[in-house]
Amino acid sequence: MRRPEELSFSERLYIREVVRGLAVTGRRFWRNLWLHIIHQFGAGKDEEAAVTLQYPESYITYGREYRGSHRLTLKDDGSVRCTACFLCATACPARCIHIEAGEAEDPMVEKYPVRYEIDTLRCIYCGMCVEACPCDAIRMDTSVHPKVAGYSRTDFIEDKQALMQRSRTMETGDIDVLMEEMLSGYRRAEEHTDN
Ligand code: SF4
Ligand code: SF4
Repeated sequence: MRRPEELSFSERLYIREVVRGLAVTGRRFWRNLWLHIIHQFGAGKDEEAAVTLQYPESYITYGREYRGSHRLTLKDDGSVRCTACFLCATACPARCIHIEAGEAEDPMVEKYPVRYEIDTLRCIYCGMCVEACPCDAIRMDTSVHPKVAGYSRTDFIEDKQALMQRSRTMETGDIDVLMEEMLSGYRRAEEHTDN
């Protein structure tokens, strides 16, 4: 690759590259427009046109392997499985897990998280917390992408109750419910903006 000072004057104007870029965009635009029109009349179905999803009204369902939002897993009695050992918070490279430990009534457990919060604005969704946990207390198997809209930083902090609720919802086996819950936040925000 050449350095900027090695480029000629005409190359440094980038006009040729701008024109080439516009040509590519134009070609794609007119091709897709034409295909969508003829598809309406039942023709050209063997040629696929690009589709833009009208998110959040419509969305794709992510695969089971998608590393989605966190959840705290539950014991059979519905209590949190986490023992507040801090291994996840120690492993987290973004330092976005905040735990406050309390003394558990069960002497076999010793501790439980009085407070467990993940700052999802700082999280990089690396999965290190899941890897570090010795008792399978935190997972990212929700197939729901993180929240991306809010009014303040605190909107993006997921607390213990929210993380446990995801596990309860998943017990019904319906991941679409989780996605709907996440998207309802967008719809509420839209209504708020419209009013
Ligand atoms: S996914 Fe990575 S960055 Fe996010 S909370 Fe877990 S360890 Fe931290
Ligand atoms: S989620 Fe797992 S690693 Fe993190 S504090 Fe709880 S038990 Fe420890």
